[in-house]
Amino acid sequence: MLLGAHLSISGGLENAIIAADEYCMNALQIFSHNARSWKWKDLTQENIDVFKETWANSGVEYIVVHTSYLINLASPKEDVYEKSVENLKLEVIRAGQLGIPHVNTHVGKHLDAGMEAGIEKIVTALNEVFADPEVQKYPDTLVLLENDAGTGSTIGVKFDALGQITDAVEAPERLAVCFDTCHGFAAGYDFSTPEKLDAMLDELESAVGKDGLKLIHTNDSKHPLDSRKDRHEHIGKGHIGEKAFELIINHPKTRNLPFVLETPKAPDEDDKLNSDMDPVNMATMLRLRHDD
Ligand code: MN
Ligand code: MN
Ligand code: ZN
Repeated sequence: MLLGAHLSISGGLENAIIAADEYCMNALQIFSHNARSWKWKDLTQENIDVFKETWANSGVEYIVVHTSYLINLASPKEDVYEKSVENLKLEVIRAGQLGIPHVNTHVGKHLDAGMEAGIEKIVTALNEVFADPEVQKYPDTLVLLENDAGTGSTIGVKFDALGQITDAVEAPERLAVCFDTCHGFAAGYDFSTPEKLDAMLDELESAVGKDGLKLIHTNDSKHPLDSRKDRHEHIGKGHIGEKAFELIINHPKTRNLPFVLETPKAPDEDDKLNSDMDPVNMATMLRLRHDD
């Protein structure tokens, strides 16, 4: 099975791979630059070579890039929209240079423009990204739209909205979906029984197609079902609970997908020591996994 976490790239992109190896993670998510800044330096050939060599010599099988939090492809503010499109292009090019197959991004917020206008804007933005000749040099790097918890004016909360976008883009082969368990639960998706999980995965499949789902962000939720609040919790310690994770990590439609933790790094919020909880959450997921 593919299991890992989002890890820091501090000191160099390849450091995340080295850390993943130490944790025995074979799946990994990274930012490919400072996620809170619009501007970043291009990769040098040496950066790329070191990254690829470290990856080849590691046990890591799967890497996904998470885009900058600043990107809002649905922004009604023209300058933010344009910077978002340019940034997403750079994210895809950068991932392509590194040989990374997936770039995960939040769908966006329409602010006060309304859902329909927001979706239209995102489709236009994605078309612009995929039409870029530099982006087209890396046809194996896909953009994954991440389902949102539904706070404020976020788009992509229900699978149906993700499906509307994937149906409308001109290059659907470059677009797929990531399911974040915390966001889904916060948005009202209950997958705590086999029947409910089946129904949810059916709904997702009919929205984005049989191969549309590529990644599971594996997070428990600090808030209850349909709370529309995005607060991640340790696996089994939140309102989703172990049973639902046991179901989704063994379901035939999801068990072969990469499971990437975005759970808190510290045991609780008051812990300023920042003790490392990734191994604990990894162990929980491994315990819940049934043999092939
Ligand atoms: Mn995310
Ligand atoms: Mn996520
Ligand atoms: Zn979240």
